[in-house]
Amino acid sequence: MVTLGEILKQRSSWSKEEEKLIEKAYNYAQKAHEDEERFSGEPYFNHLTETAKNLVDLDADAMTVAAGLLHDVIEDAKMKPNEVRKLFGDEILFLIDGVTKLGKLRYRGMERHAESLRKPLIATAKDIRVIMIKLADRLHNMQTLEHVPARKRKRIAQETLQIYAPIANRLGMGQVKGKLEDLAFPYIHPKKYKEVKELRQKKSKENIEDLTKVSKRLKKELAKEKIRILKSDYRIKHLYSLFKKLEKYDMNIERVYDIAALRIIVENVSDCYKTLGIIHGLWKPLPGRIKDYIASPKINGYQSLHTTVFTGDGSIVEIQIRTSEMHEEAEYGVAAHSTYKEHGSIPKVDETLSWVSKLIPFYNSEDDLDKNDTETPDWLKEISVLQQDVEKPEEFIKNLKEDFFEDRVFVFTPKGDVIDLPKGATPIDFAYSIHSEIGNHLSGAKIDGKLSSIDKPLENGDIVEIITSKKVMATRKWLESSKTTLARRKIKSVLQSNEK
Ligand code: MN
Repeated sequence: MVTLGEILKQRSSWSKEEEKLIEKAYNYAQKAHEDEERFSGEPYFNHLTETAKNLVDLDADAMTVAAGLLHDVIEDAKMKPNEVRKLFGDEILFLIDGVTKLGKLRYRGMERHAESLRKPLIATAKDIRVIMIKLADRLHNMQTLEHVPARKRKRIAQETLQIYAPIANRLGMGQVKGKLEDLAFPYIHPKKYKEVKELRQKKSKENIEDLTKVSKRLKKELAKEKIRILKSDYRIKHLYSLFKKLEKYDMNIERVYDIAALRIIVENVSDCYKTLGIIHGLWKPLPGRIKDYIASPKINGYQSLHTTVFTGDGSIVEIQIRTSEMHEEAEYGVAAHSTYKEHGSIPKVDETLSWVSKLIPFYNSEDDLDKNDTETPDWLKEISVLQQDVEKPEEFIKNLKEDFFEDRVFVFTPKGDVIDLPKGATPIDFAYSIHSEIGNHLSGAKIDGKLSSIDKPLENGDIVEIITSKKVMATRKWLESSKTTLARRKIKSVLQSNEK
């Protein structure tokens, strides 16, 4: 069992008050879950301390760690919200509530809807800390999945793979993403899991032998050039991510060069590029494999230089170069930012943008996150246009909050795709969220198969069908009946161009 001392010891920088808060939460949770057990037969409380430990690993702040310890006291230990509020305050109650709500979202027909269901999940969470707790909770549930009844395992593993790992990825939490995927992998593809594991074991050994030679030579050369290496190690590719790559290359392991990669951490950006230059002076790079994620970071914020070189004795290795800030960001993502700790949820415009921009869309493999070969998604363009449109930052944040975080309604297209809209949104908003042309020529709408007026507020679960006509154009009246910034902006621009 993880003791209080172990949780506190992990972080030396906590103040006395912060330590007291965690201690109070620890004791309260222990008492609250006294009579409960996990499927494994161990005390339920273990789940809370493990979740808290995962949160400390994620670099969460004290309040989040305390909420992590308490995250099941209302749902499972049947504690009264009012009591929790009295003892721990509104903010912790809000976090626990958020986690409880997330637990209630159901993902039926997940294979089809996974993509669109991550968005409701984030909208429901409202606060990045709720998602951190949920990820820490899920991590421990995955670590103990073998004790869960067999019929449930696969569903939980699938949910992890399709909902939670991509969210961790989107938030730039590389460590959590890798762990979640590798824990889910054997439950989804048991045979492939074994196969890939054996392949990796064999190959990474060879790989590391090659890398050790390269590393020795490189260190000498960097010392000559007075470039200080803060840290260097080998990162072994996570199993699931290796599996995804192998699938792309017809399971041919010889085409994967980064099963193990040499990772070098230097002091600053200029040293990153100098190091890259020195590497290319020593060994010939593979054409097309030099990736500058410093100049063009991945959408989730990942920065690093990657290169793959011929070592001269027949082998090919990958080297990654970055600063320690970039490294922190790659491992912990949003959790590495201090801002959320100071402000809870929504701080400055830049910060808001950067974390909202991490939310959607989601991609499944890390390669898909490569900005260079993926077009900027429409919604991201919308956000940057939206930002230009509004002069006042407060107004921008207000719009953004309304669009993304206020109460949402989730409705469906006739094909079953989920569209999420702010509460009070109408078929007008729905039409514009599909395509601006569909919005502009909206002539009628059917809700659940019945004709409906286009200004009727939509309700959760409505299936909305849009009827268009080339003869129809947006009118001023539509402005009163639309909720989303997107629709209103498009309508305004149509009206403006008509007046010219
Ligand atoms: Mn839990």
